[in-house]
Amino acid sequence: MANTKESKSGGMSLPLFLLVLIALAGIAAGVWLVYKKKADVGRNEKKYTFTMQVGDQKTLEALLEHDYTCASSAEGVVYIAPGTNLLLAKAAGEATVIAKDSVTGASETFVVTVVENPDHPGATVRHTVTTEVTTTTTELTTTETTTVPAGVVSGITLSYYSANVKVGEVHPYALVTMTPADATDKSELWTTSDDKVATVDKAGRITGVGAGKCMIRVTSVSNPFVFAEIEVNVVDPNATSSASESASSTTTATETTTASGESAADSGASSQTGTTASSGGAGQNQPKPTIEVRNGITYVNGILIVNKTYSLPANYNPGLDKNAQAAFNEMQAAAAKEKISLNICSGFRSYTTQKALYDRYCARDGKAEADRYSARPGHSEHQSGLGMDINRASSSFNGTKEAKWLAANCWKYGFIIRYPEGKESITGYMYESWHVRYLGKDLAKKVYDSGLTLEEYLGITSKYAN
Ligand SMILES: [Zn+2]
Repeated sequence: MANTKESKSGGMSLPLFLLVLIALAGIAAGVWLVYKKKADVGRNEKKYTFTMQVGDQKTLEALLEHDYTCASSAEGVVYIAPGTNLLLAKAAGEATVIAKDSVTGASETFVVTVVENPDHPGATVRHTVTTEVTTTTTELTTTETTTVPAGVVSGITLSYYSANVKVGEVHPYALVTMTPADATDKSELWTTSDDKVATVDKAGRITGVGAGKCMIRVTSVSNPFVFAEIEVNVVDPNATSSASESASSTTTATETTTASGESAADSGASSQTGTTASSGGAGQNQPKPTIEVRNGITYVNGILIVNKTYSLPANYNPGLDKNAQAAFNEMQAAAAKEKISLNICSGFRSYTTQKALYDRYCARDGKAEADRYSARPGHSEHQSGLGMDINRASSSFNGTKEAKWLAANCWKYGFIIRYPEGKESITGYMYESWHVRYLGKDLAKKVYDSGLTLEEYLGITSKYAN
């Protein structure tokens, strides 16, 4: 039947025929172009198309001659941290990422397909952060939060700020609320201060790993100035609680002898530690510390203490403690054998020097921020002659092989990392991988074994009175 109908319509006129011919040629050319483009993409498929899971991050590597900038066609699918080539897969979908050579303007196109993460269906971006990013975040925590433009996250609140978790236990999510409500990018970034204590996954789920305390932080991806923290206390239900009365008397006695720094030799003390395994529990249920003030200097259980609670007189000028110096020399030699180079970049600092430093920091960052990383005059451990900075007093030291060596070995020579990561609320200072405190070998080992800060170990605070 169709044939009949067509034949009835009659023959095609010449102009119409030409028009059809041109149209067909056009289509053919188009098809060829599309085919060619596909073939090009196909040839470099590995480089130009790839798949990410929600929550993944990836450094884009374009083969361009110079520095290049990256832009995403769909920031809700693939987010690019400003000024970086770090892609964050935020939600399932497809995005085109264009890398553009900043000099020649040449570009490369990447088609990124983001698929759901089967472990966390429906999750928005939550990803682990590289050390560099963490470092930057720390350094950028200034008062600039006041100048947040409209649409950017300016505050984070959590449904809880502290959690008790057992080893191996997965803790329920904290509910995150980012303000203002109309902020355009509310993606979250979860990190832990100590993955030996607790880990946090891309979705913000906290898992207990080992007994201790750490901080879990959620940071706004769009505004890394803004973050909130959960203090996580991980307990090991299988470990026998050593919080018995017997722990107290012997350990305290030993500490007192080592403590003052004058009798730093650990010879006499060693016999006592070996027998009782109780020293590790010194933090819990400890007896009230004995606090003594002599000539304006505070001794807690015989240990000279300088922190935000306890200060030194302005005229206390002991110089670098000679036992601390000798211990450092021993540590330096041992490190050198493992091709680790250590030096003291700041040892003793007088009250006057500290005042100049602190005043400068206050002028630059404001008092509140300066108090996070610099001691007020009289409150610096450097003034005691027992504290020192190794190699460089900068967060860029964190995670270096020297920092790792120091953290793992300094106790053997009588030092502790005085301001560990995630303990700012206890020590009063943010993480300083470079600052060590000399305690003498015996006490340093005990504090190291306990996994506690010196404040926790002794049961004291570190807070300015005003
Ligand atoms: Zn220091």
